[in-house]
Amino acid sequence: MTMKWNPATGTVAAAHGCLPSGCLNGQTLWIGNSWEAAAEGEGLAVISPRDGQALLRIACAKADDIDRAVVSARAALPGWRNMDGVAREKILRAIATGLRANASAFSLLETLDAGRPLRDTVHSAERAAGLFEFYAGLASKIMGRLAPQQSGRTGLIEYEPFGVFAAITPWNYPLSNAVTKLAPILACGNTVVLKPAELTPLVTLLLAEVMAEAGLPTGVVNIVTGDGATGATLVNHPGIDRVSFTGSTATGRTIAEAAARRLNGCILELGGKSPMLVFGDADLARAADAAIFTTFSNQGQTCTSCNRILVDNSVREAFTHLCEERLARLRIGDPLDPATQVGSVVSHGQIERIESLVRDNGGRTIGLPNYRPVPGGAFIRPRIIDVTDSTSPLVREEIFGPVMTLQGFTSDDQAYELANATEYGLAASVWTSSLARSEAARHRIEAGIVWINCVHALSPALPVSGHKNSGMGSEYGLEAIEQHMRLKTTVQMSGAWASPFNND
Ligand code: NAD
Repeated sequence: MTMKWNPATGTVAAAHGCLPSGCLNGQTLWIGNSWEAAAEGEGLAVISPRDGQALLRIACAKADDIDRAVVSARAALPGWRNMDGVAREKILRAIATGLRANASAFSLLETLDAGRPLRDTVHSAERAAGLFEFYAGLASKIMGRLAPQQSGRTGLIEYEPFGVFAAITPWNYPLSNAVTKLAPILACGNTVVLKPAELTPLVTLLLAEVMAEAGLPTGVVNIVTGDGATGATLVNHPGIDRVSFTGSTATGRTIAEAAARRLNGCILELGGKSPMLVFGDADLARAADAAIFTTFSNQGQTCTSCNRILVDNSVREAFTHLCEERLARLRIGDPLDPATQVGSVVSHGQIERIESLVRDNGGRTIGLPNYRPVPGGAFIRPRIIDVTDSTSPLVREEIFGPVMTLQGFTSDDQAYELANATEYGLAASVWTSSLARSEAARHRIEAGIVWINCVHALSPALPVSGHKNSGMGSEYGLEAIEQHMRLKTTVQMSGAWASPFNND
């Protein structure tokens, strides 16, 4: 199934060449390890944002389809949860091997489907494999403990899987979004129905067969393609024991409401409006590299993007100049060109969203000699905008596009006040050469992850946990175990139990 980009065959043929043959023609529901069409409806077209071409028609699952998928996941649950942890570990490691073996196909699909540059997506399978390996290692090491008890009584505290998960993912990093859900869900002995985003479902279809080839038992992972209504039907299905969702805060709120009604909890990874604080004592050249990378990589469509730049007024002019120089050098265009650093955003609809926010404040015009969009593609010129009004929607709402905002500050107190002036609390990046400032930043910034003199430094071992309106629960790290398993306490008497009533 490996495939390299061949311009002669065209993008649609390339996508089909990477996909499992059984899932073409609208048969994109993976239920019980086979491809099915939806029981009704015409499905949805998947459009490549690179050039506007229709890559595939996918099924849009409705209630009956979702029901079949949940039944399949429930049927697979006893076998998977009762499997020896070492056996589960081996299967997860085999999935990692399968990901690596199909790295070029995953890369090409992700680039065609999401517009992410090939130079980024070539690493997607390796990162996904690393995550599977991290949780594979845990699958055989999740242990309970004995609580101290009086003689003749044993108290056992252990974790057990929740059961059947509903996992729902957004469109921005399709492979990473899917495996971030799947690896801990599976390592902890749960089964799952996964719904990928309707805009970028293709890598998930390939992943389904890669997991089956690696020996994942039938029904442990089921995939239902579809839109928001599909997701809503899935999370409200009575056979779902827990929901893991990544996406916008608005959708996350509706999912939390559904989970609250059923009292079965959920994991939510939501939006962000993360700041980058550049203090006067920072290494300005490195800070400018970081500001450009965090704002414009993946076309700005990264939940943890720290594109709300707060800079000490004493270095503002110099820092702005460094950022503009770097922006002017960026290679923006065909995501299939290995030299491209910034590709297309996910859709023309996304361009409208971004433009509606920046329209009245278009920002400084910077010559972009390397801006070469593909005709028909969803391309937008990256820009830098100076903001003086700290109530502007530009610095309050998530733009999710290649737009940097710059605000100045005159004191550390003002920097933290501006940094925290948001409903979100996902991430932050701080640039300073002062140990005291680093220490203060750690305490004063309201965010789940704070990067000091770096940005987007992530690893499977580091939990990410959104504060404020950026989420509930966490992903990655050992902490994920507690999000994917529930506690059970067992008390066992070795002697005869005597009823307190007998003393009356
Ligand atoms: P979205 O909320 O519109 O959609 C996300 C997913 O939810 C899609 O699969 C969609 O079909 C589904 N969905 C839509 N309505 C639903 C409903 N009522 N019930 C159930 N499912 C529903 O988000 P998006 O536009 O796809 O993604 C962008 C957002 O995701 C941004 O806000 C970004 O910050 C966030 N995000 C967060 C993280 C994180 O880890 N915190 C990571 C990536 C993206």
